[in-house]
Amino acid sequence: MTPLDGLAHRPLRPIWLCRLDANPWPCGEAKLVLLATFADDRPALLALLSRLQREAEDHLTQLDSGRSNNLTDRFLSWAQPPDH
Ligand SMILES: [Zn+2]
Repeated sequence: MTPLDGLAHRPLRPIWLCRLDANPWPCGEAKLVLLATFADDRPALLALLSRLQREAEDHLTQLDSGRSNNLTDRFLSWAQPPDH
């Protein structure tokens, strides 16, 4: 059981598109739900996202014939605390 199991907007592996709306995951709805779920524990959210980012980079690099993907903006930038 991971926090993603409760999400309607889950990533479809290995292409990392949302199962519900087919946007690149995390889609807008997934971000809103994750932010709400981890409202009191932002470090746990960032740890989860960096794990998922590495997994997605592995998958997408294979799909793209070895072209490396940097997904930091997509997975992490939106979740940084707004304190600076
Ligand atoms: Zn979605």
